[in-house]
Amino acid sequence: MERLSRVLFLSEDGFKIFLEQLVSSKNVIAPVETDGCFEFKTIKRAGEASLNYSNTRLPPKRFFLPQREVVFKHDPKKGTLHEPLGGFEMVLLGVRPCDASALSILDSILLKPPNPDPFYESRRRSITVVSLSCAKPGEECFCNVFEAGPVRGSGEDITLTRITGGLLVEVRSSRGQALVDVFKNLFEKAGAEHLEEYGELSSRLTREMNSRIGIARERLVRLEETLDEGFFQKEAQRCVECSLCSFTCPVCYCFDTEDYLEKNIYMRAKGWDTCASPLFTRMASGLDPRASRVEMFCHRFCHKLSRIPLAFNSYGCVGCGRCVSLCPAGVDIREVLKRWG
Ligand code: SF4
Ligand code: SF4
Repeated sequence: MERLSRVLFLSEDGFKIFLEQLVSSKNVIAPVETDGCFEFKTIKRAGEASLNYSNTRLPPKRFFLPQREVVFKHDPKKGTLHEPLGGFEMVLLGVRPCDASALSILDSILLKPPNPDPFYESRRRSITVVSLSCAKPGEECFCNVFEAGPVRGSGEDITLTRITGGLLVEVRSSRGQALVDVFKNLFEKAGAEHLEEYGELSSRLTREMNSRIGIARERLVRLEETLDEGFFQKEAQRCVECSLCSFTCPVCYCFDTEDYLEKNIYMRAKGWDTCASPLFTRMASGLDPRASRVEMFCHRFCHKLSRIPLAFNSYGCVGCGRCVSLCPAGVDIREVLKRWG
């Protein structure tokens, strides 16, 4: 994706008009509050969006990597039919910077030549991601450790930050520029006072999070060197192998394929899978190179924090905190890292 950065200001009134016009002219997905939880949903009215939230329960990953999708069909009479790529155009509004940063990690893995994932690539090209900076990071958040937030991520097309009287608007890509151009009358040039407030906010939030989290990024790069499987014997004891940590992670991308017959047509579907599942590495012969809970648990940490960085030059975690808040066994990646490091 072409990266650029242009800074504009959008007043509160301008933002209301922007939202109304956006919703009436485009397919818009935004956080919506349901039973006390925030989830990304299609909105038909600007008022349906709930933009005062810590983060959504599930990341927006599914709009780029659906939980299940048919990738091709084979009709014995007509031959192999590839699923059409397209029809994914939408604006994903209110994504938190950590989740936007997760997209740039997925880009480096799934768009890597020579075999990019065509389905992911097509969605990534079609979906405009508008992030909203965090004003008050949640208790479980540690995006600062991976420089994935709290104000600015790395995979969004536009970054919105609330400042006095409106929002600072950073245009980060040509796709973001194209969206701003549609509503250009609403935006004005950002002034020095806007940039100053943005800078102060960014430094304050990062400082506050650094003092609260206490994991030094420098320690993470040494993790593989200090890997001790005995350490994970103890740490893995609590895990109940539910896979929730992987399924709710904005960065996890493991998948499985399924072949089946439907009305005399052979189908192949691709769907989410996870290395935290006991079946993930079992082969047809019955052999399983990573059969025990300790091996699975150890792999999850080492893959995210050592092997993805070595292969793709970015961590496999953005510190969104979902696995911390949702794990039914109370496994806290931050505490594991502190004990490990
Ligand atoms: S969510 Fe917790 S219990 Fe479930 S697989 Fe992950 S670490 Fe284990
Ligand atoms: S490992 Fe946990 S904290 Fe890190 S990105 Fe995944 S869900 Fe978020």
